[in-house]
Amino acid sequence: MKKLFSVILRFPLKDKIKILFVGLFFLIALMVSISLGYNAIKVLAETSQLAYPTASTFQGIKKNLGIPKGFLKKELNLSLNLSNKQLLSKEYVLNEASNFKLKRAQFRYYAQDLKKSLFFTLSFFGLFMLVYVSLRNKNSLTPSLKLRMGRFYVPALLFSVLIGGFVLGKSPNPMEALVKGIKVIGGFYPGSFNSIAILILFIIASVIGNKIICGWACPFGALQELLFIFSSKIKKYTLPFYLTNSIRGLIFLFSLFVLFGLIGSSAGFMIYHNINPFNVFVPYFKPVIILFSILIFLVASLFFYRPFCQFVCPFGLVSWILERVSIFKIRIDRDKCVKCKACYKSCPTGAIKSKVVNDRIPKECFSCGRCLDKCPMQAIHYE
Ligand code: SF4
Ligand code: SF4
Repeated sequence: MKKLFSVILRFPLKDKIKILFVGLFFLIALMVSISLGYNAIKVLAETSQLAYPTASTFQGIKKNLGIPKGFLKKELNLSLNLSNKQLLSKEYVLNEASNFKLKRAQFRYYAQDLKKSLFFTLSFFGLFMLVYVSLRNKNSLTPSLKLRMGRFYVPALLFSVLIGGFVLGKSPNPMEALVKGIKVIGGFYPGSFNSIAILILFIIASVIGNKIICGWACPFGALQELLFIFSSKIKKYTLPFYLTNSIRGLIFLFSLFVLFGLIGSSAGFMIYHNINPFNVFVPYFKPVIILFSILIFLVASLFFYRPFCQFVCPFGLVSWILERVSIFKIRIDRDKCVKCKACYKSCPTGAIKSKVVNDRIPKECFSCGRCLDKCPMQAIHYE
C-alpha cells in the first residue's frame, strides 16, 4: 500500500486527479458496503430462534420479521401457491437446518442493498486498478512495482462469485435489472422509479468505465471468467464477434417482440427467465431447462471466453453499445503503436486487435486488463 501511494505521488498532476477521481468512487462504495454489511449482520444477530415459532404462518413472519411471503417461500424452496395463512411447520420441519435456512432468507432479504453496493465497490475497485496500472505503465515507473493485473483480478472475481453470488443470492444482477426495467417501462411489471434505479446506476457505472460492472462485479460473469482462467490447460477458441453479437442481438429483439405480444400470444413473457443462469447462486428448485442452460454455459466456459455474456446477456449487449460513450476504456496511443501485434495473444475476445486496426465495429472488451502490461511501447492505456 505504501508503495502504491509513493508511485501515485510521482504521477503528473493530471494523472493524480484521475486516480483521485476513481479512488473516491471506490472509497464511497466501500464505506457504504461496510455500513450495509454491518447492519445486515446486526439484524441477523438480534433475531433469536424464537422469532421463527412453529406456530408461524407466512403472514406472521412477514408481520414480525418483515420478510415478504413470496421471497420466503422461494428461499425455502416451497411452492408459491401455498396459502399465506398456512402454518410453516405443516410444510416445513422446523429443526436446526431449517432454522439456518430461515436465517439465511432473512439475511438475504436485509442484505439486498448490500449486494447492490458490492457491485459498485468491486466495479470501482477494478476501475481504480485499471487506471492505476495504465498510468504506471504510461509513466514507465520502476519495474519493481510491476504488479500484474491478475494479482487483483482473480481475488476480485472470487469475491464476486462467493459473496456476491453464493452468499447473497442471485438478485439483483445486471441482466435481471435490465429485464425488469424493460418490463416496468412496458407496463408488464408493477414498478416505480425505485425498481429501475439500480438499472440506471449500472448504466451510469458502465458509462464511467467500459464494462466495469461486467468485467469486475457480475457474479455469473466472474464465474465464467474464473472457469476460463483455471482451465488454462484446455485449448481455447475465440468466437467470431459478428456471430456472437448477432445471436445476442436477435435473442434480444425476439424477446422484445414476445414481451410486447408481437410474436406469439404471451405478452408480458420474458424469454430470459427461462434460461437465467444466475439461478446457479440459489438453492431453489430449478426447472430442467434452467439446469441445462447453467450446465451448458459452465462447460462452454472451459473452451470459450464468457459464452453466456457473448451469446445471450442483454446487459452485455447494452454495455457493449455504451462503450462508445464510456469515459474510461482501453485506448491505443496511435503515435506510439508500431503494430507489432505483441498484445494480440493476451486478449480473449480479439478486442485489442480490433482497437489497434481501428475496426469500424469494435469487438467486445470486458476491461479485464490482460493487455495493459503487454505493449513494449506502452501504447495501451485505460483512460
Ligand atoms: S454480460 Fe456477462 S458479465 Fe455482463 S451482466 Fe451479463 S452475465 Fe454479467
Ligand atoms: S485484453 Fe482484450 S478484453 Fe481484456 S482489457 Fe484488453 S482489449 Fe479488453
